[in-house]
Amino acid sequence: MIPGSSAYHRPTSVKEAVGMLGSLGDDARALAGGHSLIPMIKLRLASPAHLVDLGGVADLKGIREDGGAIVIGATTTQHELIGSDLLTKKIPILRETSLLIADPQVRYLGTIGGNVANGDPGNDLPAVMMCLGAIYHVVGKSGERRIAAREFYQGAYFTALEPGEIVTAIRIPVPAAGHGYAYEKLKRKIGDYATAAAAVVLTMSGGKVASCSIGLTNVAETPLWAEGAAKILTGSTLDAATVKKAVAAAESITSPASDGRGPAAYRTKMAGVMLARALARAQQRARA
Ligand SMILES: Cc1cc2nc3c(=O)[nH]c(=O)nc-3n(C[C@H](O)[C@H](O)[C@H](O)COP(=O)(O)OP(=O)(O)OC[C@H]3O[C@@H](n4cnc5c(N)ncnc54)[C@H](O)[C@@H]3O)c2cc1C
Repeated sequence: MIPGSSAYHRPTSVKEAVGMLGSLGDDARALAGGHSLIPMIKLRLASPAHLVDLGGVADLKGIREDGGAIVIGATTTQHELIGSDLLTKKIPILRETSLLIADPQVRYLGTIGGNVANGDPGNDLPAVMMCLGAIYHVVGKSGERRIAAREFYQGAYFTALEPGEIVTAIRIPVPAAGHGYAYEKLKRKIGDYATAAAAVVLTMSGGKVASCSIGLTNVAETPLWAEGAAKILTGSTLDAATVKKAVAAAESITSPASDGRGPAAYRTKMAGVMLARALARAQQRARA
């Protein structure tokens, strides 16, 4: 379809971007990689009168280490996440997940900030951010605030962002050295959003789970942090009976839609299957 017309703005600083979004009001939308927003505009599901392109703001780019955390600028592309040696070494689940997003063409332009701020339950990075305990740096006309990924998602396309606010960076505490991790995603074909997916980060000590965190993608209106399931696993050897209980606990918090990816009951079951696979792979990767 032919999109409606929008005025195009290209600020060069966060201050200018936030000023524009604040003064242009509800008629303006931030534009990052455009790989969620432009399709919405083409389908006339969104028709912003103004697009404020964040691509010219140098401060929003880059991946750096800051104490025990990695800070990733919001307009860092998914392709750049995959190519980062620092992330591959310190938070390898981000590389694994990014490789499962769409296809290379989308990943060359799609950004981490757009992926986490979009609020689409089908986006892969939000559940991983919840799993990792990430914090979003947010700036608006009233200043800066920080929001935990675990508190950010309120409904499909509804987040804790106030009008005119943008995510400027994502701060992720570096998981313990030797941690195990996995992102397992069931999709109908290459480039598809998840039918269901599970992220696991865990540490093992003396053959038992010392810590565990689990995120689930596209099996509810928001990404899910499966805290109860992770608690069941902590202290266990990941024996079959305990994994079964944890999988049941994770399945019980899902409420997927029945759609082209399958009926709700199937998608709930697939969330459990993805979790069991992710746990097994994370265990194999963890150093005791
Ligand atoms: C064919 C196709 C397949 C895809 N498959 C997948 C997939 O499997 N998994 C997946 O996770 N994603 C998938 N995507 C989406 C892709 O990852 C997008 O790049 C991503 O969801 C949005 O990032 P973006 O930078 O393109 O944001 P945009 O499209 O530019 O923006 C998306 C929304 O976020 C807002 N926004 C953008 N940046 C910020 C910011 N810094 N602060 C506040 N708000 C902001 C915009 O205003 C807009 O509302 C797919 C896209 C396509 C076209």
